[in-house]
Amino acid sequence: MNAQIEGCVAVVTGGSSGIGFETLRLLLGEGAKVAFCGRDSDRLASASAALQHEYPQGDIFAYRCDVLQEAQVVAFAEAVTQRFGGVDMLINNAGQGYVAHFADTPRAAWLHEAELKLFGVINPVQAFLPQLERSAIGSITCVNSLLALQPEEHMIATSAARAALLNMTLTLSKELVGKGIRVNSILLGMVESGQWQRRFAERADKNQSWPEWTAEIARKRGIPMQRLGKPQEAAQALLFLASPLASFTTGAALDISGGFCRHL
Ligand code: NDP
Repeated sequence: MNAQIEGCVAVVTGGSSGIGFETLRLLLGEGAKVAFCGRDSDRLASASAALQHEYPQGDIFAYRCDVLQEAQVVAFAEAVTQRFGGVDMLINNAGQGYVAHFADTPRAAWLHEAELKLFGVINPVQAFLPQLERSAIGSITCVNSLLALQPEEHMIATSAARAALLNMTLTLSKELVGKGIRVNSILLGMVESGQWQRRFAERADKNQSWPEWTAEIARKRGIPMQRLGKPQEAAQALLFLASPLASFTTGAALDISGGFCRHL
């Protein structure tokens, strides 16, 4: 399929691993120029090298930036504009979840989750908005979680913050439609990636292999497709929503959960 983004510029926050990294691969495969950020320089450098190896002709720009640091995000946007001259697609992916019940969630964690889920999107949107307004295909696509609609007790702070992000994304889609910018999100279930690999490393039974461990999670949680999602499956949905393939779609939240969603 032709995503109609050849020569267009995409920015992916948190592109150095997992879903963000797979999204960059797909974007490059469609001929887009890509910029991405992360906090860790080594991870950024190795992701950039891997992408350049797979796409020797690819135009790839990696930049160290914490999406919660407004000044850093502004500098990132300036650097991307200097490098590519504009931006067409912003994909807000950076982040991670916080696993704890109410009793074990301190005030600082509540505040951090709220900040990460909201300002992790607000900062890049503010910084890249002028460039997106100048694009003929401007889009903002946010990685969100099914927790926004289907909260879990063991991720109470993340669930609440995800719901706030979903709410904000819909409102933003209404405000920016007049500027020709589409705003959408994906609602993830459980997807194999860095976060899960870190939890796998801390598993109780060290004899369990990755396939056994992930299959057990899927069975225990009752995921109808009986597996976790692949980062590429989340990336495919992001590519679709960010590109002109979804040209009549704004304000949407696309479910990527293997059938885990239990509401209409
Ligand atoms: P990974 O840990 O593999 O990737 C996260 C990426 O975000 C890394 O590149 C990381 O780099 C970067 N990042 C994290 N915090 C920041 C920050 N403050 N500023 C800039 N970059 C940052 O995880 P996933 O691919 O799984 O996660 C991608 C998104 O999907 C996240 O928002 C996550 O919450 C969401 N999600 C994932 C689910 C899953 O099951 N995998 C389920 C629901 C939502 P670095 O650490 O170097 O900054």
